[in-house]
Amino acid sequence: MWTIHLPRWSTGLVAFVGDAAHAPSFLSGQGSSLALVGAYVPSHAGRAGRSARTGLAAHSAAFAAYEGRIREFVRQNQALATSGGTALLPRIAEELALRNNAR
Ligand SMILES: Cc1cc2nc3c(=O)[nH]c(=O)nc-3n(C[C@H](O)[C@H](O)[C@H](O)COP(=O)(O)OP(=O)(O)OC[C@H]3O[C@@H](n4cnc5c(N)ncnc54)[C@H](O)[C@@H]3O)c2cc1C
Repeated sequence: MWTIHLPRWSTGLVAFVGDAAHAPSFLSGQGSSLALVGAYVPSHAGRAGRSARTGLAAHSAAFAAYEGRIREFVRQNQALATSGGTALLPRIAEELALRNNAR
């Protein structure tokens, strides 16, 4: 539902983070949080892997670690878009009434 889903977030020396990699929906929120986590994790993974590897190998290892660590977190946050959407965008009269009567 209006979310970005890429099969992978990096290639070679280039990696996507934030909305470019995995924009959530406004129905899920969390876009800023995911962008911050997505910016922090690969930079941290890069520092951790620098001593053992260099160049493309270091980047590949860091980007694989980045994706391995947060892809499930991203999936869970994007899934929020389909669990609470009727409160924001009611589709039928019953959903509208449910939202309007919610406390
Ligand atoms: C109306 C609206 C409300 C939102 N409300 C919330 C909310 O309440 N909570 C929440 O968590 N998220 C919210 N979001 C989502 C959140 O804003 C984004 O998920 C988050 O900003 C993504 O961060 P980002 O760094 O990936 O991308 P962006 O914040 O979009 O940053 C990308 C930057 O790259 C720049 N840029 C683009 N192309 C180029 C180029 N060629 N060269 C140089 N620079 C370039 C852009 O100008 C921009 O500054 C909202 C989004 C919108 C549109």
